[in-house]
Amino acid sequence: MTEKLSIESRFRFIEDQYKEILEKIAEAAVKSGRSPSDVRFMAVTKTHEPVLINHALSLGVDLIGENKVQELLSKWEYLSPPDVEKHLIGHLQSNKVRKIVGVVSMIQSVDSVSLLQEIERQSALKGLTTDVLLEVNIGEESAKTGLSPDSVFATAFSVEALPHVRLRGLMAVPPICETEAEIRGYFAKMRRIYEDVKALTLPTAAIDTLSLGMSQDYVPAILEGSTLVRVGSALFGMRRY
Ligand SMILES: *Cc1c(COP(=O)(O)O)cnc(C)c1O
Repeated sequence: MTEKLSIESRFRFIEDQYKEILEKIAEAAVKSGRSPSDVRFMAVTKTHEPVLINHALSLGVDLIGENKVQELLSKWEYLSPPDVEKHLIGHLQSNKVRKIVGVVSMIQSVDSVSLLQEIERQSALKGLTTDVLLEVNIGEESAKTGLSPDSVFATAFSVEALPHVRLRGLMAVPPICETEAEIRGYFAKMRRIYEDVKALTLPTAAIDTLSLGMSQDYVPAILEGSTLVRVGSALFGMRRY
């Protein structure tokens, strides 16, 4: 996509892509033994202007994801409707929790107990409950944030002590892979950890979300059990930073 494209042609691009993505999601869901409505679609809107995001919302998109607190805060009031469901999907620093609690309904990128405690504190101050996913560094890459697979269960139990935080599941961004078999291996690993977390006794949790799959790999992610796909460039075109 270049900036020379008219807004109309960008709108048409989004329409065509959205239709195709929904078809692929439905097909993969059925192949995985589920129904198309068992997989939720998130439009990842980072770097994109409200006019394009609003077009996607007009087509029926009902969930958006942003990875930076500041960008989300500067944008959400221009969305139509502004109260469209929003999730934070990028790394969150404790000092920014105050600003984001109440704006997003879910924080998908929780990677420490201290962050959970700050989400609890700010949610309690505002009198609300914040849904969270634990982000797992499934490839155990040193340059990436996320919990190590070994620490997921203890972290899940720690949420039980936090009445204003509700654990909903897990999220991951696997390493860049050369082959589909390799990426499916990481997704399958996530699925096993997810099933194990579901089997824990966590009375305050409502584990129903396995957030896996982006533009390049949402089909294999669904085949391995993803319940929420996070799609940016396949919907809006390439990001220009
Ligand atoms: C940017 C981003 C996405 C979407 O990436 P695309 O490849 O453009 O679909 C998904 N998840 C996270 C955490 C992201 O930061």
